[in-house]
Amino acid sequence: MADPNPRPSAETFASDTAALQAAALAQAEFLPLALAVVQATRDDGLLLRLQALRAAGRDQGMLMALREEVEAKAAQLLAAPVEPSVDAAGQHPASATDEAFFAALVQLLHERAGERHYGAMMWEQAGFAARSASRPMAARDSQADRDGLLPVAVIGAGMSGICAAIGLKKAGIGFEVFERGAAVSGTWAENTYPGCGVDTPSLFYAYSFEPSERWSQHFAKRDEIAAYFEHCVDKYGVRDRIRLRCEVLQCVYDEAGQRWRLTVRYADGQERQVHARAVITAVGQLNIPSIPRFSGADEFGGPIVHTAQWPRGLDLRGKRVGLIGTGASGMQVGPAVVDSVAHLTVFQREPHWVLPNAQYHEKIGAPQQWLMRHLPHYAQWLRAQLIWSYGDAVYTALKVDPTWVSDGGSINATSEKFRQFMLRHLNSELADRPDLRAKAEPDYPPYGKRVLLDNHWYRMLKRPHVELVVEAIETLVPGGVRTVDGQVHAADVLVLATGFQATRMLSSVDIRGRNGVALREAWEGDNPRAYLGITAPRFPNLFMLYGPNTNLGYGGSAIFNAECQVHYIVRCLQAMRERDWATMECRQDIHDQYNDTVDAMHAGMVWARQDVENWYRNSAGRVTTNTPWRLVDYWAMTREPDLAHFVVERPHALHGQPAEAA
Ligand SMILES: Cc1cc2nc3c(=O)[nH]c(=O)nc-3n(C[C@H](O)[C@H](O)[C@H](O)COP(=O)(O)OP(=O)(O)OC[C@H]3O[C@@H](n4cnc5c(N)ncnc54)[C@H](O)[C@@H]3O)c2cc1C
Repeated sequence: MADPNPRPSAETFASDTAALQAAALAQAEFLPLALAVVQATRDDGLLLRLQALRAAGRDQGMLMALREEVEAKAAQLLAAPVEPSVDAAGQHPASATDEAFFAALVQLLHERAGERHYGAMMWEQAGFAARSASRPMAARDSQADRDGLLPVAVIGAGMSGICAAIGLKKAGIGFEVFERGAAVSGTWAENTYPGCGVDTPSLFYAYSFEPSERWSQHFAKRDEIAAYFEHCVDKYGVRDRIRLRCEVLQCVYDEAGQRWRLTVRYADGQERQVHARAVITAVGQLNIPSIPRFSGADEFGGPIVHTAQWPRGLDLRGKRVGLIGTGASGMQVGPAVVDSVAHLTVFQREPHWVLPNAQYHEKIGAPQQWLMRHLPHYAQWLRAQLIWSYGDAVYTALKVDPTWVSDGGSINATSEKFRQFMLRHLNSELADRPDLRAKAEPDYPPYGKRVLLDNHWYRMLKRPHVELVVEAIETLVPGGVRTVDGQVHAADVLVLATGFQATRMLSSVDIRGRNGVALREAWEGDNPRAYLGITAPRFPNLFMLYGPNTNLGYGGSAIFNAECQVHYIVRCLQAMRERDWATMECRQDIHDQYNDTVDAMHAGMVWARQDVENWYRNSAGRVTTNTPWRLVDYWAMTREPDLAHFVVERPHALHGQPAEAA
C-alpha cells in the first residue's frame, strides 16, 4: 500500500524552494524589496535610480524596468550561501556615513520621511535594531537592583503591561504585574465577538523587538493576536512575574515611606497590601464598555450583549439580530454574522468614513512568509512602509487649513483627497442603491471619527435580509426596538457595538497621590491630563501607559506609543537608580505647559469639531484621548527624559530628612 504521507525527497525540497522563491519575488512589494536589496548590496547606482523614480512620481515604465533588476538582484542574494543572518540585518549603523545611507533609504518611503529623527526611529521601530544579535546592555542596565529603591508594580497585563514587563526585565529592574483577568493580552483576551481583529496591519501591530513574519493574514484576528502576546510573555521570560486574577483596587502614596501602597484582591478573594517604589499603570483606554441605557430594556425579552462581553456559545444562527452601533466593532461583527442570521437590523447614529483596503481579507501566503524570513531586511522594510503609510502619512489630513474653502466635508487639500477617494468607493459599492448611499455618506470630514477599513460593510448592507435604520432608538419593546418614527424593528438578540468609556481613564483603580489627592478629583472625573501622557504632578513615581492624549486617532499602532512610553519610563527609573533618588515627580509648570500645547494643537485638528460625535472628547468638549503628535514627534520626545522636568527627592531613610527637592 502506498505511503499516505510520503517523505519529500531532496529534489522536492529544492524545487519547492525554487518555486517558493519565484512566487515570493513575483508577489513581493516593490519598494521594500528594492530597499532590502540596496541595503544588502550598497548598490549606489540602484539607489540613484530609485531616487529618480521617486522624484518622477513613480514613472510606470521605469518602475517595471527596475522591478526586473531588483528581482534579479534579490534572487542573487537569496542564492548566496549565507544563512538569513540576524546579524546581517541588524548591525547598527556604525558610522555617520552608514546613518546617512540608511536615512537616504528611509527617505525613499516618502520625501517627508527625510526629516530629522525618521532614520533613527525607523531603525528601531521597523525592527532593524531588534535583529542585532542581542546587543549587550549598557552596564547600568544589567546591574541588579542594588539599592532597594525599586521594584515596580505594573497594573494590567495587556499589550502595554507586557511591554513594560519586558522593558523592565531587560533593564534589570524588579517588578511584578497584577492582572485582574484570567489571561494576559487585555483587549485580545476580553474581546471574543465574531470577527474581532486589528485594523492596523499585523506586521505593524507587533512589538518592534519581536517582529512576527508568521502572521497568517495581513489583518490578524483576535485568537492569533492573543497567541502572539502569550508567546512574547514566554519568550521574554516574564510569565512568572505576572499575577493573574489579581485586581488592584487602590494605590495610595505613602509620603513617609516614599512608596506606593497597593491594595490587591488576589485570586483567592483575599485583599492584601503590597508596597512598591513605583507604579506603572497599564489598564488600557478601551475596556470599560459603554452601555446605553434604553428604556424598556427589561421588557425586551432576549439577550442584550456588548461586543466586549460576548457570552461564550452565543448562537445567532437563524436569529433576528439588532446591531446597535456602526463603529470599529460594528464594522467587524456585522459582516462576520450576517451569513448566519435570519435578519440583521443595523441601527446607525452617524455613518463612518470607510476606506477600501485590498489586503484587509488577504492571507499572507507561504511565499511572502518565506521571503520575510530569508531575504535580509525585507520584513523590516515592509514594516517601515506600513509605519509610514499608517502613521505620519495620514497626519496631514488632520490639521484644519484656515484658508480651505469647503462645504464642511473636508478641512484641507489632503482631507479632500481622502474624502474623494472614499466617496468613489462608497458610490461604486452602492451604485445601485441610492437609498443606502444617502444614509451611508458622512457629512463631516474624514478622521472626525475613526476611519474604518471596509470589511465588506456596504455589501453587507445590500443583502436582502439586512436593513439600515438611521432613525434614533426611542425604546426597546418586547421582541424589538421602536425608533422615533414609531416603527418597531423585530429582534431576538441585540448586539451593542457601542464602544467604550474612553474618557473615564484609569477609573478601574482608586489612585491617591500626595496629601491623599485622588487622581479622579485631580482630573475632575473625565478631564485626564498628564505630561507626555505618562506622568502627573502630585503623583510621584506613578507612570502611565496608554494614558491621556496618547491614543492614535488617525491609525498608527498603539504598540508604537506603548514602546515609546516604556522606553521613557525605564530611562526615568534608571535615572533614579543611578542618582539614588527615591522619587521623581513631574513639575506642575512643565505639565501645564505641555497640556496647553496639546490643547492648542487639538484646537486646530479635525476631531475637535463639536459638530461631529466621537469618543475622543470629554463632557466639556476637550480632546482627552487622542494624541496631537506625529509618530516621529512622540518618539523623539520620549527618547530621553529631561530630568529638569522633575522634582526629585532623596530617600528619607538614608538622609534622615523630610522630602528634599533636588
Ligand atoms: C476591539 C478592539 C480592536 C482594537 N484594534 C486596534 C488596532 O487595530 N490597532 C491598535 O493600535 N489598537 C487597537 N485597539 C486598541 C487596543 O486597546 C490597544 O491596541 C491595546 O490592546 C491596548 O493595550 P493595553 O495593554 O494598553 O490595554 P488593554 O488591552 O485594555 O489591557 C489592560 C489590562 O489591564 C487590566 N486591568 C485593568 N484594571 C485593572 C486593575 N484595577 N487591576 C488589575 N488589572 C487591571 C485589564 O484586565 C486588561 O487586561 C483595539 C481595541 C479594541 C477594543
